[in-house]
Amino acid sequence: MAGEPQSDCLFCKIVAGEIPATVVRKTERVLAFRDIAPKAPVHVLVIPHAHYPNAAALADAEPEIAGELLAEAGRVAADEGVEDYRLIFNTGSGAGQTVFHAHVHVLGGRPMTESMV
Ligand code: IMP
Repeated sequence: MAGEPQSDCLFCKIVAGEIPATVVRKTERVLAFRDIAPKAPVHVLVIPHAHYPNAAALADAEPEIAGELLAEAGRVAADEGVEDYRLIFNTGSGAGQTVFHAHVHVLGGRPMTESMV
């Protein structure tokens, strides 16, 4: 069923507490934890507990949780004391996605003026 935990998914295992993570925020539906290979002084991943392969699939199936994901990303930035930050949703392996459980990267704490767009 859509949204159900997947036994081969790393982030489902983090949600279940089977793999340790440095959790910075947790709600009933969303979890935020530090990226294991940070690309900036602040690098936090915000994920839904429910398993969807990417953020667009999450938004399509459960728009309320997708909204909460974004709100939590903003709260993470505020908690971390960063006013300027970047949110990244890699979608598909060709775009750099390596974990196929919806997530948004919250990056901040250094200048990020270079732009892809
Ligand atoms: P993606 O490349 O957008 O799919 O992002 C996946 C992110 O997960 C990468 O930035 C990885 O560094 C991060 N990551 C992989 N394994 C772990 C882990 O066990 N804990 C925290 N972050 C992880």
